[in-house]
Amino acid sequence: MKILVTGGAGFIGSAVIRHIIRNTTDSVVNLDKLTYAGNLESMAEVSASELYAFEQVDICDRAEVERVFREHQPNAVMHLAAESHVDRSIDGPAAFIETNIVGTYTLLEVARQYWQGLDEARKAAFRFHHISTDEVYGDLEDPQELFTETTPYAPSSPYSASKASSDHLVRAWRRTYGLPTLVTNCSNNYGPYHFPEKLIPLMILNALEGKPLPVYGKGNQVRDWLYVEDHARALYKVVTEGEIGETYNIGGHNEKQNIEVVHTLCDLLDELRPQANGSSYRSLITHVQDRPGHDLRYAIDASKIQRELGWTPEETFESGIRKSVEWYLSNPEWVAHIKSGEYQQWLDKNYSTR
Ligand code: NAD
Repeated sequence: MKILVTGGAGFIGSAVIRHIIRNTTDSVVNLDKLTYAGNLESMAEVSASELYAFEQVDICDRAEVERVFREHQPNAVMHLAAESHVDRSIDGPAAFIETNIVGTYTLLEVARQYWQGLDEARKAAFRFHHISTDEVYGDLEDPQELFTETTPYAPSSPYSASKASSDHLVRAWRRTYGLPTLVTNCSNNYGPYHFPEKLIPLMILNALEGKPLPVYGKGNQVRDWLYVEDHARALYKVVTEGEIGETYNIGGHNEKQNIEVVHTLCDLLDELRPQANGSSYRSLITHVQDRPGHDLRYAIDASKIQRELGWTPEETFESGIRKSVEWYLSNPEWVAHIKSGEYQQWLDKNYSTR
């Protein structure tokens, strides 16, 4: 099978591609614009594989997306390309509307025309898998309640509203044109190669530099955390074994308040890389003004994917968070390159002809 992965140079997309190249005989085409969040250094492990190809393309550029379909003839699409950071969506929503809504529409249209032109056998086997977030459901007030696949949409931020829009477009292309689509909605991911603007890497890296650890409000927002490699396994299962037209929620059964996550990280760093002055990293925690419209609690019911596709997470929060901290401690070059702009220079040098 040849899988076209959009956003493959991002945090989750790169984990998906590493999973496919390590564990299957499928080939992958990584279509990525390489925004600030795309990092080809995350692809170092797979980039030499003959099963891997890279195309620096914007999903909003219809002619280029058509060229990629024509030249690579994929059997499946895994669509992860997106603007993904809630805070950035509050400061500047335009890029979120453009990529997440218009880009998804463009990709759907190109995929539909390509799929309609396939011979019957390839047409029957084709799949378009859209990767989305649990943030489309809004937040939960009842502490016992969980998001299921039938929870009504109630997005709060420009990011989650743009993802909700894209989910609706994908379902409409299924219903109206018959495109064989699948949708997954997942909780917060964490793990290796996470761009250092998100909570967990931000806290680890600030702590290591002795900088304040900014926690929104009281830090009592609850998120359900999933180790990124567990998500990658789930996504591959859905694209290969999921039932067309279905939605699957994916989560880790790891509900934690943000402040608990930060405490866990501080305690792990105290153990693995104690501060020279002997004080705990917890002393760096600083409470800052809460984000506008901040959702208080997200929690996923992942029983459908467990029951129907036999997927369960392999990592507990404790094992996954330890692996993540260890990864950041053992990969200072990856972090330093992003922070110093060396990554940008490497990119200019390696991709200046594109
Ligand atoms: P990310 O920001 O790390 O990566 C996004 C990737 O998309 C980057 O490589 C970027 O270069 C690329 N991209 C952005 N705009 C593009 C465009 N116009 N054309 C082509 N490529 C473009 O994001 P992530 O955290 O890996 O998330 C991937 C997907 O999973 C997103 O759709 C996101 O909504 C969804 N998701 C994320 C989480 C999470 O916790 N991170 C949870 C659930 C769902």
